[in-house]
Amino acid sequence: MDKTAMYKLSYGLFVLTAKEGEKDNGCISNTVIQVTTEPNRIAVAVNKSNLTHDMILNTSKFTASVLSEEASFEMFKHFGFQSGRDVNKFEDLTDTKRTANGTLAVLKGTNAYITANVISATDLGTHTLFIADVVDGEVLSDVSSATYDYYQNHIKPKPEKTEKKEGGKKVWRCKVCGYVYEGEELPKDFTCPWCKHPASDFELVEI
Ligand code: FE
Repeated sequence: MDKTAMYKLSYGLFVLTAKEGEKDNGCISNTVIQVTTEPNRIAVAVNKSNLTHDMILNTSKFTASVLSEEASFEMFKHFGFQSGRDVNKFEDLTDTKRTANGTLAVLKGTNAYITANVISATDLGTHTLFIADVVDGEVLSDVSSATYDYYQNHIKPKPEKTEKKEGGKKVWRCKVCGYVYEGEELPKDFTCPWCKHPASDFELVEI
C-alpha cells in the first residue's frame, strides 16, 4: 500500500463552531462534505481531542464557515493551534453572526457558512463522524474556497532555513502547521502540540 496515495485526496477548509451553555468555541476542519441533497445533509469527522467535538456531541448543533483564499495564517493559528479549554477564541472576534441554531458563523476570511443539526454520531476511534441536517446558510463573498492544497502552497508561511544542530540532533517539521521538533528521534506516538496531528505528518528536515 502506497500511503502517499491518500495525499491526492482534495479537501476544503472550514471553521467548525459550536455553543454549549454560554460558551462559543471553534476549530479548523478539513472534512466537511455534502452527503445528500434531498434532504440536504452534510457530514464532518471531528477529532475527539478538540473541545468543539465534545460541544457538538453534547448539543447536536454546529456551523461550518467555509474558509476562502483570503483567510490569513493567523486565522488558522487562532482556531487551529490553541485550545478552547485555554482561551476564549471569540473574545476579541467581532466579525461573527449568530445562526438559526444559535451557533456562530465566522464572517472574516470565509465565503459562506452552513449551519446544521446532528442526526447521527458514529464513533470512529480517534474521531466522531457527525451526519447533520442543514438548517441555515448564506453566501458571504465570491472569493474562491481555500483547499488544503491552497493552504499548503499559499497560506502557510514558507519554512525558514534550518541551521545544523549540535550533538547530532535531527529536526522534524510538521507538514500541517510548520511546528519544529528537535531530537535524536521523533517518538512514534508524538502529537504536534500546535495542530494535534500525529508523527506521520512530520517530515525529516534535510540540513
Ligand atoms: Fe502541526
